[in-house]
Amino acid sequence: MMMFRSATILLAMSSSALAFNIGGKRQSPLSTPTVASPKKAVAVPMDTPNFGVPNLSKTKLDPKDDWVRNLDYDGFAKEVSALGKELRKNTGKDDVDHLNKIVNWRNMAAVFGLATIWLPVNPLTVAALSTWTYASWTMIAHHTCHGGYNRVDAGRFNSRGFALGALNRVVDWLDWMQPEAWNIEHNRLHHYRLNESKDPDLVQRNLDFIRDGKYPQFLKYVVVAFFLPIWKWFYYAPNTYKELKTNEWIRSGKELPEGYDPELAVTVVSMLDPGRKATRKIVNPLDFYKNVVGPMFFARYVAIPGALALIPGVGPTLAVRALTSLVLAELLTNVHAFVTIVTNHAGEDMYTFDDAVRPNSGSFYVRQIIGSVNYDTGDDVTDFWHGWLNYQIEHHVWPDLSMLQYQRGAPKLKAICEKYGVPYVQENVFERTRKTIDVMVGRTSMRRFPTQFEPADHKIADSSLTWKSTNGAIEDESA
Ligand SMILES: [Zn+2]
Repeated sequence: MMMFRSATILLAMSSSALAFNIGGKRQSPLSTPTVASPKKAVAVPMDTPNFGVPNLSKTKLDPKDDWVRNLDYDGFAKEVSALGKELRKNTGKDDVDHLNKIVNWRNMAAVFGLATIWLPVNPLTVAALSTWTYASWTMIAHHTCHGGYNRVDAGRFNSRGFALGALNRVVDWLDWMQPEAWNIEHNRLHHYRLNESKDPDLVQRNLDFIRDGKYPQFLKYVVVAFFLPIWKWFYYAPNTYKELKTNEWIRSGKELPEGYDPELAVTVVSMLDPGRKATRKIVNPLDFYKNVVGPMFFARYVAIPGALALIPGVGPTLAVRALTSLVLAELLTNVHAFVTIVTNHAGEDMYTFDDAVRPNSGSFYVRQIIGSVNYDTGDDVTDFWHGWLNYQIEHHVWPDLSMLQYQRGAPKLKAICEKYGVPYVQENVFERTRKTIDVMVGRTSMRRFPTQFEPADHKIADSSLTWKSTNGAIEDESA
């Protein structure tokens, strides 16, 4: 109770602090990527950056970063790129069968959860309902939206239509996030600006209001604990939607509203903050509640208990049981997702970057690897419970592979990293959770990568990334 009250107070205090921008330098709004029409992802230099020419021999390096000094970027890029091509080429029927197996596991969880939802509240039903939501997002939607199954005939599981539009959303992937918004925020900004100031998921910056808060550390843990079970609808749904609307606004050729900072995160609370009028010009709260979180809320929390409530006599009892199980499953799936998603790129041994590099260049590959972490990997069961987020390094190097190819590619990429001396972090997911929370509460900070050691021809101007796919699938295989 006390914990809830403290957290609520802090939440209220920090509602505008959730409009945070922290760490990294502020960027021009005009540098937000724009969308063109057809299919490829390309990087096109649009203005000339001035990166300076440091005298590398005189630049001091932290001993922990010494591997950077003599890294053979070209040799490394060649091997990583060749492995990616091989994995893409090997994608076939096995991958479709594997996907169908994972879909069946998800379906079993959904059917079990729904079939037992009327029973007295019990952990099996709650876990099944939670897994239904979790697997739909992290494994099925995530890899499909990236185009991981576009090379094969996997029926609905093609990024060109999957979950897009109201009807497909209900059939394919109904969650708090709008799939179109997810595609922009995740497939483009997060993946291609990883751990830069333009990465909307940069934990260290987004949690600065806790890190820098002038209150006792135990309260910081309380605030983090408060967010864990609610973060998807509280923070992620509105923030992905903000990225979609910002993108639409820029594409329409209009100037962003005065006072609007596209790097400030938006939450269900901060979008109502009287001081954030400019944000509401981009993110209309009514549209958000109606079109983004509304369908999930209605389908999951109104329709299901409502249908049970209609049963004569026992209806109200069953409806209350169902609603309780659904709410508990919601809290659980958020914690499950937090532990396996938010911790993918945070920790004192993960790097942040202060400029941008060309996708699929040697520097890009290195950044994806040293800015990501793998958890324990192995068989399908282990990978399922990790939501396939235990192959985050491989996923960031090649975002558009199938789940099966990540399993096959991981040991090979690890061997290449060992050969070239590129740090490849693989650790238990709970250890990574601890390291992430240490960053969130300000006990530790992430490493700043010495970007002056990267080849100058890998650098691109901050405004130069344009994506040409409308669905977020990145299909540039030229590198
Ligand atoms: Zn991804």
